[in-house]
Amino acid sequence: MCRGALETVNQCICDACVSELPWLEDCCQQCAVPLTTDALCPDCQSKAPAYRRCISAFIYQAPIDNIILRLKKDPYVAEIKQLTALLAERILRCYQSTEQKQEQKPSLPELVIPMPLHWRKIAQRGFNQSQIIGNLLSNYFLYEHKTPLKVLSDICQRTSNSQAQQALDKKQRARSVKDAFSIDAGSDFSLKGKTVAILDDVVTTGATANALASKIVDAGADQVDIWSLARTSWNNSSQ
Ligand SMILES: [Zn+2]
Ligand SMILES: [Zn+2]
Repeated sequence: MCRGALETVNQCICDACVSELPWLEDCCQQCAVPLTTDALCPDCQSKAPAYRRCISAFIYQAPIDNIILRLKKDPYVAEIKQLTALLAERILRCYQSTEQKQEQKPSLPELVIPMPLHWRKIAQRGFNQSQIIGNLLSNYFLYEHKTPLKVLSDICQRTSNSQAQQALDKKQRARSVKDAFSIDAGSDFSLKGKTVAILDDVVTTGATANALASKIVDAGADQVDIWSLARTSWNNSSQ
């Protein structure tokens, strides 16, 4: 970003530019919408979402928005591996580690389900960007932290190819995503008693993630969390 020299070959963004990224700091303790304090937002206070909490690394702003837009066209976007590693470190800080048991923190989900895309969108794009992030995240957990994380990509399907979410208001989005997902009941794998994380590139209102979370809870999962690279701000989500 600054065109300066990098310290290691694994880097793509230098340390100084990493510290300048739009990190998500104070946010709603449940849906992660940016706030001025760490509290519950009015939406979560009036109706608790189906998921336990959302963990996002960044606010959906420049240059993160641009990197994510490029990821939708090119699965090999250079910055994505480093951003996923930064997300992984943030995720791990939110859960109990095996070395030092911290009782107040929940245990790490054992499964990650990348946000499914409708088959028509997969056919257009050729890949699911959340799947790419999921694979990178799982590799990072395993090689950097000896922590296994199973990526489960074929158990959930997106059954409706809804209109571009940005074009809809909040109520319309909630309606359009309500029955957008199905879970493969014939699968050998059962979600019963599992702790699951849904992985998405960007969480916009949380309505899509919440719709999938409630399906996964209905399928018997114990807890569902949401993980995403970026979270849009309050203004974006209420438009
Ligand atoms: Zn730099
Ligand atoms: Zn909230």
